[in-house]
Amino acid sequence: EVRVRFAPSPTGNLHVGGARTALFNYLFARSKGGKFVLRIEDTDLERSTKQSEEALLQDLSWLGLHWDEGPGVGGDYGPYRQSERNSLYKQYAEKLLESGHVYQCFCSNEELEKMKEIAKLKQLPPVYTGKWASATAEEVQEELERGTPYTYRFRVPKEGSLKIDDLIRGEVRWNLDTLGDFVIMRSNGQPVYNFCVTVDDATMAISHVIRAEEHLPNTLRQALLYKALGFAMPSFAHVSLILAPDRSKLSKRHGATSVGQFKEMGFLPQAMVNYLALLGWGDGTENEFFTLKHLVEKFSIDRVNKGGAIFDSTKLRWMNGQHLRSLPSEELTKLIGERWKNTGILTQSDGPFIEEAVALLKDGIDLITDSDKALSNLLSYPLYATLTSPEGKPVLEDKLSEVSSSLLAAYDSGELLQALEEGPAGWQKWVKSFGKSLKRKGKSLFMPLRVLLTGKLHGPDMGASVLLLHRAGTCGVVAPQVG
Ligand code: GLU
Repeated sequence: EVRVRFAPSPTGNLHVGGARTALFNYLFARSKGGKFVLRIEDTDLERSTKQSEEALLQDLSWLGLHWDEGPGVGGDYGPYRQSERNSLYKQYAEKLLESGHVYQCFCSNEELEKMKEIAKLKQLPPVYTGKWASATAEEVQEELERGTPYTYRFRVPKEGSLKIDDLIRGEVRWNLDTLGDFVIMRSNGQPVYNFCVTVDDATMAISHVIRAEEHLPNTLRQALLYKALGFAMPSFAHVSLILAPDRSKLSKRHGATSVGQFKEMGFLPQAMVNYLALLGWGDGTENEFFTLKHLVEKFSIDRVNKGGAIFDSTKLRWMNGQHLRSLPSEELTKLIGERWKNTGILTQSDGPFIEEAVALLKDGIDLITDSDKALSNLLSYPLYATLTSPEGKPVLEDKLSEVSSSLLAAYDSGELLQALEEGPAGWQKWVKSFGKSLKRKGKSLFMPLRVLLTGKLHGPDMGASVLLLHRAGTCGVVAPQVG
């Protein structure tokens, strides 16, 4: 059975890199009919916070990456927080001590520092050279009786090599002579990170470990621990880093990097998921538009690239526009209508004005948040403003002469208002006969009309804009501060 896990440390926000790792795990599990497990790696008690854990769970849920086992869901392999698994680590540490894979090391910090210095002077790797690797039972007993603090140290084979066949990177091989015996449990009884991960992955029956490239060095220690504990080794897949456009490691100085930030900026989870999937993966065609469901159908780990992927926020924005426009129109209208109501641009969150406004403006926006400006911009010149103001009338007559005086006449006679009351068909009919009477059509008709009626040279479809502005003046959905 395929079982994968996402194992974040709750020490900060969910970064786009972490989100992509979670996504690849999710896609792998779903595409293989396996299980996606969420494990919270909170062994670093000082840096881990409950708040951060909650934010992580929220961000994952927002992205739609629902886990089959883990916090809030339960499962047969729990508990799913490392801080709740101490007895298990202790049990396996004792097992390793009994089998001789681990020994008790009574070296003080000073002694260890000294070993490091000597190794440095001799230009040797900083491997443990203390006596406890080969101490007799009596020597150990003596220190235990004295109450000397000790760590559990793993006995690394002194020669040979170890390899894994990484699903993304191919064969990765390490020589063992530079590793040195490493600590798996500190003198205060705290298990060390690599040890916890191994025990957890093994006892949670994880079949594939898909994680960030930066964990590759840990894999050597973990592989040794698997062997010593007699566990079958999972398959490994190490995903490359996400880079900034300058190819440096993506960080805060490049702008937003956490999922929460993008959410606040108005990005849709569908667009985030789609964009993250393309960071290092593609289905081999030109297609770049995927829903989560499509991704599940198409994903394969063989198609994940070895090279670093560049995070391009302009492309993410574009992609968001694609997803925004592909939402069912009721859904998009609801989303934007609610936003306009919440931001106070409008007094209502639904109704025909909003439906028309969304239909008119959606092509010009990539983010939900862009819709505020688009609407305010449209409404910033209320229809008839010039036509009805005493100062406006002479301006109209002078400025665009022929068209403006005829327009003024059409307004004064009530003919224009009447046409607009009749909706799109009324407007079209009027505009046609208006043009005919002036012997104008196309640009020479529409440009002056647009300027005169909307106060702008450019904008979305003029007829729809004018009708919408007319409605805004009569239906009262526009909040008083606009226009
Ligand atoms: N807790 C680690 C992290 O947040 C992940 C370790 C792993 O996936 O093995 O980077």
